[in-house]
Amino acid sequence: MNCFYHPNNPAIGICKYCQRGLCSDCAIVVDDVLACKNRHENEVQQLEQLTARNLFQAKRVGSNYMRNATFYGLVSIAFIGFGWWTLQWLGLQAVLFIVLGLFLLYAAGANYFEGRKYK
Ligand SMILES: [Zn+2]
Ligand SMILES: [Zn+2]
Repeated sequence: MNCFYHPNNPAIGICKYCQRGLCSDCAIVVDDVLACKNRHENEVQQLEQLTARNLFQAKRVGSNYMRNATFYGLVSIAFIGFGWWTLQWLGLQAVLFIVLGLFLLYAAGANYFEGRKYK
């Protein structure tokens, strides 16, 4: 592949914005990626910033799910434990606590698997 702007020069890389081949005269490094010098420097920089922001947001969403999973998990253990412990005195009411605890346990699991998608 040769440079898009200088067909006689071999290309050393591709502009991230326009995907054209660039020789060493045309290429400039912006945030660790190549861009057309004096043409797409700003565009590539914006692209990179957008990507970095998306990665950051995905990580934050993922950790939110993990926090919810921990919360639901702890509450569900408390409910199930309480229901189990009071089963002989409360009977049906205690069973309701256990059912609620199982439901929360399911919510914790769902959040956990959802959060793992963002890792
Ligand atoms: Zn370009
Ligand atoms: Zn060139």
